[in-house]
Amino acid sequence: MRKVSIFGATGSIGQNTIDLIARDPDGYDVVALSGGRNIVQLAHDAKRLNADVAVTAYPELLPDLREALDGSGIEAAAGKTALTEAASRPADWVMSAIVGAAGLEPGLKALEQGATLALANKESLVAAGPLLMATAKAHNARVLPVDSEHSAIFQGLVGEDMAAVERIIITASGGAFRDWPLEKLATATLAEASSHPNWDMGQRITIDSASMFNKALEVIETKEYFGVRPDQIEVVVHPESMVHALVGFNDGALMAHVGAPDMRHAIGYALHWPERRELPVARLDLVAIGQLTFRAPDMQRYPALRLAYEVMEKGGLYGAAFNAAKERALDHFIAGSLGFLDMARMVEDVLDKLSAGAADLMQPVTLANVATIDHLAREQADTLLKQRA
Ligand code: NDP
Ligand code: MG
Repeated sequence: MRKVSIFGATGSIGQNTIDLIARDPDGYDVVALSGGRNIVQLAHDAKRLNADVAVTAYPELLPDLREALDGSGIEAAAGKTALTEAASRPADWVMSAIVGAAGLEPGLKALEQGATLALANKESLVAAGPLLMATAKAHNARVLPVDSEHSAIFQGLVGEDMAAVERIIITASGGAFRDWPLEKLATATLAEASSHPNWDMGQRITIDSASMFNKALEVIETKEYFGVRPDQIEVVVHPESMVHALVGFNDGALMAHVGAPDMRHAIGYALHWPERRELPVARLDLVAIGQLTFRAPDMQRYPALRLAYEVMEKGGLYGAAFNAAKERALDHFIAGSLGFLDMARMVEDVLDKLSAGAADLMQPVTLANVATIDHLAREQADTLLKQRA
């Protein structure tokens, strides 16, 4: 039996992971499950999968979790330290599906104990790519991509030599507003930004898809994971979300990964890698689909993409600042205190302020430096919001 842990078990990726694991009860021994506020789901899955420990990120919810697990023999724990402790428990395969920079430390701990880290939490690579990849190397552990585009690239590279790779193309659905006139975007509401035309995902990544911040994070994720140069990474808008990514080789060939927009594909690939096993995802009927379309992203509509390339050119702790500023701008959009288009403006202003100020963004990418810059960027975002009021 393979020992597995799932961080962010109560979320969209976490639930899809549990769906796959629960289909093979004799195949997996579940060590830890983590969640946030959804104690009912966390306790339900911990009991169903007979986990050793269930952890909520919020200490004030520990009594609720204890009560929900009462009599099950499953250990209840809460808080940041409990999360990293749970990630340190030996496991063969660990799903990193917490949303946001909060996923970084549990991911590092999982790598330090030698686990294979299935990485949905793209924020870890954006904020601390060099640290995450070096930690994997130092502990002879492996990071496997779960983001659909990166799983697609990874699959396109099987048996290939990186030296023959000319370019990598990731596709973007364009999100909820791809066909909206630019003037209307400024008035986009939370409800409008929270529904995705093709993918069923958590609220935060759904809004990030509409603003293209998700693709911005994924461009940086591509550079950090595959070690390619920024100028080798292209983004193409592909409204059907069937082609997830393409790898372009030096002989002109493009290897495309085509599949239904169902995250169980990428999760399942990472779960069974290096094998390919049967998965409960829809089979595409190409004739019924008829045609697949592609168009260039409009950089005016999507300033987040331009920012991603600027962040990659600068390197250092710019990724950590970019991600944290984005997370905070998104918090403010969700809270109703910031407009849809103001999110990108705020992120750009935070980066400008931080690079002009005392913070040294070119320090080494250590956990302590990432935490400092993450904090400063969030603080700066809040200051900017106050100044606007
Ligand atoms: P969800 O919002 O659906 O789930 C997030 C999970 O993280 C939940 O378990 C949530 O707990 C938990 N959580 C929230 N805040 C914290 C915190 N501060 N500390 C610890 N745990 C926390 O997100 P998704 O599943 O959509 O996304 C998860 C990750 O996967 C993100 O990094 C996202 O970018 C990435 N991803 C997601 C895809 C998708 O299809 N959904 C596709 C590709 C990548 P609770 O709900 O109990 O409060
Ligand atoms: Mg993706």
